[in-house]
Amino acid sequence: MRIGCPREIKNREYRVGLTPESAKELVTHGHEVWIESGAGLGIGASDSEYIAAGATIKDGPELLFAECEMIVKVKEPQAGERAMLREGQILYTYLHLAPDPEQTADLVQSGVTAIAYETVTGRGGGLPLLKPMSQVAGRMSIQAGATALEKAHGGRGVLLGGVPGVMPGKVIVIGGGVVGFNAAQMAAGLGADVTIMDRDPEVLERVGTHFEARAKTRFSNQANLEEAVCEADLIIGAVLIPGAAAPKLVTRDMLKCMKPGSVLVDVAIDQGGCFETSHATTHDDPTYLIDEIVHYCVANMPGAVSRTSTYALNNVTLPHALRIADLGWKEAMRTDPHLAEGLNVHAGQVTYPAVAAELGYEL
Ligand code: NAD
Repeated sequence: MRIGCPREIKNREYRVGLTPESAKELVTHGHEVWIESGAGLGIGASDSEYIAAGATIKDGPELLFAECEMIVKVKEPQAGERAMLREGQILYTYLHLAPDPEQTADLVQSGVTAIAYETVTGRGGGLPLLKPMSQVAGRMSIQAGATALEKAHGGRGVLLGGVPGVMPGKVIVIGGGVVGFNAAQMAAGLGADVTIMDRDPEVLERVGTHFEARAKTRFSNQANLEEAVCEADLIIGAVLIPGAAAPKLVTRDMLKCMKPGSVLVDVAIDQGGCFETSHATTHDDPTYLIDEIVHYCVANMPGAVSRTSTYALNNVTLPHALRIADLGWKEAMRTDPHLAEGLNVHAGQVTYPAVAAELGYEL
């Protein structure tokens, strides 16, 4: 199969669909890989690295879209890219169609076979092609929070790990799922005083068993949250209620008892945020102050660590890409129902029930 990987053109997207190593795997399986010149620059991968991996470099995206049987990307195709998609072509990337009627209509009209990373399921449940980005965001949240706690960044001048003779900072992680677990790991590793709050007893048990004395667990109810929020130097918002907007667990009123210069990092901002005072920010201007509390609410945190994020993403997307290329998408999906969950649009039809229901398409 001929596989094309264009340069990402969405604003501030530095990741790339295929690393040179992934290109090499596909080439080793007997496939042809075309990479748009400069596609890897955002992760520090030059055209020559792709050439050494056996790929062919093409100037501009047009030839890729015109002649490749499968297009592998990171972000949903932008309007200009959608205009180049064609019937029978496979598009393998993040799509997030439910809130995006315009993109969905264009994909339907193009006749493309669109496989969305975010709806591919895993053998053990969950969404394995989303998971690495939650791992990245969870780990980054502590880095971002630690920086925001510095005096020059508006924080209260607390070093999370403390030093001998001085108490460490208090970190409250609300939500003990993928983001929360990874945040807690980083915070505990720094020597901070960490508490993970969740309302699912199984999650509390799992994180409790894992962290033992390195982190405390606490049931997430209103009374416990109110108490924990007042004591915290850094709060990480890491909750998710699948398919719903994030619940506003920390209200503006609750900020009054916090120490000035304390920090809120709302990782759940992509679902509306779990603090009442959150609004989405960008890597260019990531924080703002409300009632002397620093807020960090960047909606695409993994974009800032494009190299790590790209490699983490490729680790989970490449095995499916190889199977699609080796077997064709139909056979790959027939033999793997988890990959079949990724099919969102095919031959002018929306095929994913939740997207069809949300946007009024017939299945
Ligand atoms: P997850 O499903 O693994 O974990 C969510 C956890 O929240 C679950 O353990 C659940 O029990 C818990 N929860 C639900 N309601 C709660 C409540 N009231 N109190 C305490 N805990 C509660 O989800 P995840 O992968 O960890 O993702 C968390 C959020 O981070 C999602 O909104 C996700 O979209 C977002 N995210 C954001 C970025 C970013 O760049 N900002 C990147 C990746 C993920």
